[in-house]
Amino acid sequence: MTAVRATLMRYFQPAALLGILALWWLLPEAQASDPFTLLIAVLATPLVVLALEWVSERHAAWRMTWYELAHDLFFVVLSFTAVRFCIDHLAEAGIAEAKASLGLQTLWLQQLPFPVQVAMVLVLIEYGQYWMHRAMHNWHPLWLTHAPHHHLTQLNALKGAVGNPVELFLIGLSIVGLFDFSLTAVFCAAHMLAAIGSFAHANVRFDPPRWYSFLFTTIEHHSLHHSLDYEATRSNYANCLILIDRLHGTFRAGEGVLLGQEGGRLTVGGIMLYTFMPIINALRGGRRPA
Ligand SMILES: [Zn+2]
Ligand SMILES: [Zn+2]
Repeated sequence: MTAVRATLMRYFQPAALLGILALWWLLPEAQASDPFTLLIAVLATPLVVLALEWVSERHAAWRMTWYELAHDLFFVVLSFTAVRFCIDHLAEAGIAEAKASLGLQTLWLQQLPFPVQVAMVLVLIEYGQYWMHRAMHNWHPLWLTHAPHHHLTQLNALKGAVGNPVELFLIGLSIVGLFDFSLTAVFCAAHMLAAIGSFAHANVRFDPPRWYSFLFTTIEHHSLHHSLDYEATRSNYANCLILIDRLHGTFRAGEGVLLGQEGGRLTVGGIMLYTFMPIINALRGGRRPA
């Protein structure tokens, strides 16, 4: 049993990524180009990872409770409804208009092998997320959107979705819509990114091969980014491709166990309002009699 568990912890992440690639490559066109298929796939993946948290827990202090589950599911639903609606109607629509007005045509991309297209989409999305995340840690107005995610004091497979909706909107932006990749390759990359983000937040004692943690973000890398140590939070910005941190000098080895920010964890209301508190406080202060 111990050997089976050790093998599962070692190879689950790389096998899952290969499985996701194969799934989208082999799916019939009708299902592979249906956004509903992507929704189901992206929602099902963290459920499997949550099951693994029972099989091989990383830290008892991070254990899922009914409160945590309800708390986290609120943000999962928010991400797939209001935040997704805003990304589609405010950002993606604008990208499509810009593409049309500039006359950008890159249909040749669809002639590339499927895994190459997936890799290109992964890198394009990840580079955008890396710089957005790094900017959030270096410019106060953007930090106000991201800080609630850093007030988390425990991690699990759903915690990647927990954050202020303005942050979730900003981190969801990408320029992939400017290019004519096959829709299936874009969906496959989106599924992979969601899966790696879930693995990197999971309370699971994964023990992946060295090559995996050289390329992809793991729970060790990302828990260090969430740690109480301020300097450590200024490293490992990549949500999925830790290779980008290695290339830009922001990689740091290690692992975080005690997580969070001064002030401790926030309530759901606290996370929703945190970004707007300077404005709310200014308005409150303005109303006070002199
Ligand atoms: Zn961060
Ligand atoms: Zn995180």
